[in-house]
Amino acid sequence: MIKKKISIAVAALMSLTILSACGAKAPETPAVPETPAAAEDLTTDVLVIGGGGAGLVSAITAAENGSEVILIEKLPMLGGNTIISATGITASDTALHEASGRPFTKEEHFTRTMETGKDLPDKELVQLLVDSSADAYDWLVSLGLKYKLHEKDNFWIIPEEGHYGSLLVTAFKNEMAKHENITVMMDSKATELIMDGSKVTGAKITGKDGSEQNINAGSVILATGGLNNAPEMIAEYNPNYKGIHTQMTTAGATGDGIVMAKAIGAKLVDMDKFQMRPLSSNGNWYNQSLIVEEGKGGILVNKSGERFADETMNTWDLGSEILKQEEAMAYIIFDEEIHETKDGKKAVELGRGVKADTIEELAELLEVDAEALKKSVEDYNSKIDPFNRKTLGKITTAPFYGVKTLPSSHYTMGGVAINTEAQVLNEEGAVIEGLFAAGEVIGGLYGAGRVAGNNTLDDIVFGKIAGRNAAGK
Ligand code: ADP
Repeated sequence: MIKKKISIAVAALMSLTILSACGAKAPETPAVPETPAAAEDLTTDVLVIGGGGAGLVSAITAAENGSEVILIEKLPMLGGNTIISATGITASDTALHEASGRPFTKEEHFTRTMETGKDLPDKELVQLLVDSSADAYDWLVSLGLKYKLHEKDNFWIIPEEGHYGSLLVTAFKNEMAKHENITVMMDSKATELIMDGSKVTGAKITGKDGSEQNINAGSVILATGGLNNAPEMIAEYNPNYKGIHTQMTTAGATGDGIVMAKAIGAKLVDMDKFQMRPLSSNGNWYNQSLIVEEGKGGILVNKSGERFADETMNTWDLGSEILKQEEAMAYIIFDEEIHETKDGKKAVELGRGVKADTIEELAELLEVDAEALKKSVEDYNSKIDPFNRKTLGKITTAPFYGVKTLPSSHYTMGGVAINTEAQVLNEEGAVIEGLFAAGEVIGGLYGAGRVAGNNTLDDIVFGKIAGRNAAGK
């Protein structure tokens, strides 16, 4: 039986109604926080580590299957990177596709996922993802979410209105609140998996105040997300990304699940692969059209006002080229014709770009060498291109714009190896008893590239499998 441990102050921080094991609602008004000293050990059927999309789905599913569940989240809020996700869900052969007369078949979904991943993804996991996608979509609709197909891309399912990630997380939280057998503990960080022989039997937890406790569990689900907020760890796994910034992530994505799983011998796959956003700042990323659009696109310059690369190269290589420059940054330089586009406006507005009537003035505003920037622009306009770009644009129509970019990791492709039952595998490929994983912490689904929207799908598909299996059903 789970002992109640949620501090009242923490409960009040969450918009979700937190239920204790006995079903009592946390009071609206916080009392004086409890003294943390006595962090008793707890015991539960299923322990879910991480309260993003995959963790919430896992907890709901394990609870639906009759288990007592404790979900721990190290931050004072639920949602993880799922809550900032803006692109929607990818699913195939759904009711929505049928109704709209714009099919996206399972075969197309499979092929697109494999091709985007440069054939590296695990075919069996991808097939499972694809085959389960229409059910995942139906489940979201059953939670009250309303979707439409993206107007151009028929694989993309987006909300009828509103912000995708926050609607999704709210729906999951509402669903979770229906289950009295789920206890949520905020500000509770898992630091280590507890083993009994070769079986995982719980985790060691540290509270915000430094208190420590063990949570013993029949099964543990790792749903800790990726490592986009762990730049040093990213550079360790891929030295090309040394100096990477963290513009595209929330705070909790520090690779804890990878560290904990590795420590008990879990196999890790594709750990050098990250979805790179070379053009990003202030928590936003900007479309490559700013620099690649044929006949219009601009250039990247470093702090000396000089170009340093073919701006049209693939995004992960371009990101690492920018990271090699002074202060691991660059400026995106373009003209009014690009600014008039949706992508141009977005970059200037969200990237707090600067605008000037001449290139010299622009250089002054950006504090780069005016002569060097002028030469970079003039050469580019005269098609003098030492980097052999595939497509050339121009920077001729005033006013001119400069937007700072800090390349950042947007998605962690690699992670712990799992089988189709969401069981974590060890280095020999054998199942680690008692340990399941779902969401961005898993590897093997995306290889070198991820189809946008497949990530929410995998939170649901593998969250449900992990939740059901952890509950022993
Ligand atoms: P996913 O899409 O896989 O669910 P998210 O980034 O949305 O990934 O959610 C992962 C969640 O896990 C985040 O809320 C993060 O703060 C939480 N988390 C990460 N490490 C730990 C940890 N050691 N203990 C508890 N929660 C963690």
